[in-house]
Amino acid sequence: MSDNPLEAAIQHLKQSGVRMTPQRKFILEYLITHHNHPTVETIYAGVDNKLPNLSLATVYNTLKLLVENDLVIELPATENDTSLHYDYFGVPHFHAICENCGKITDIFVDEYKNINQNLINLTKQQSGYWVNNSQFEVYGYCPECQKKLQLNNN
Ligand code: ZN
Ligand code: MN
Repeated sequence: MSDNPLEAAIQHLKQSGVRMTPQRKFILEYLITHHNHPTVETIYAGVDNKLPNLSLATVYNTLKLLVENDLVIELPATENDTSLHYDYFGVPHFHAICENCGKITDIFVDEYKNINQNLINLTKQQSGYWVNNSQFEVYGYCPECQKKLQLNNN
């Protein structure tokens, strides 16, 4: 495995039989270097100047491919933020999502692997599912919105 995350990701895709194109490479690189949970439009705007002929459809299709190959996760829309957001999943982590403003905050947990494995085991035991992948979101109100909404989070 390469130490360079972009090279490692390209290797991972090659092993799954995915052909690398300049478009795919730039979108992947954008996601690896931006941890702001961008939308499709944000990614498109960020990569567009490097690839003048890039279409929004190509960004959509590339994201779908990266999600299918477990390199990127798609974060669900919320009531007040109806766009999907994307995140390179090199270091697995959880997300806290604000239901008021749509802010997405990374939560890194040392025991992520154990927690995830426990949930996969419990899922198999209780449902018989073959688990392909998993991701976790926690919903609530960010500190700023708690103040705005005058909530007391004690
Ligand atoms: Zn908020
Ligand atoms: Mn994240």
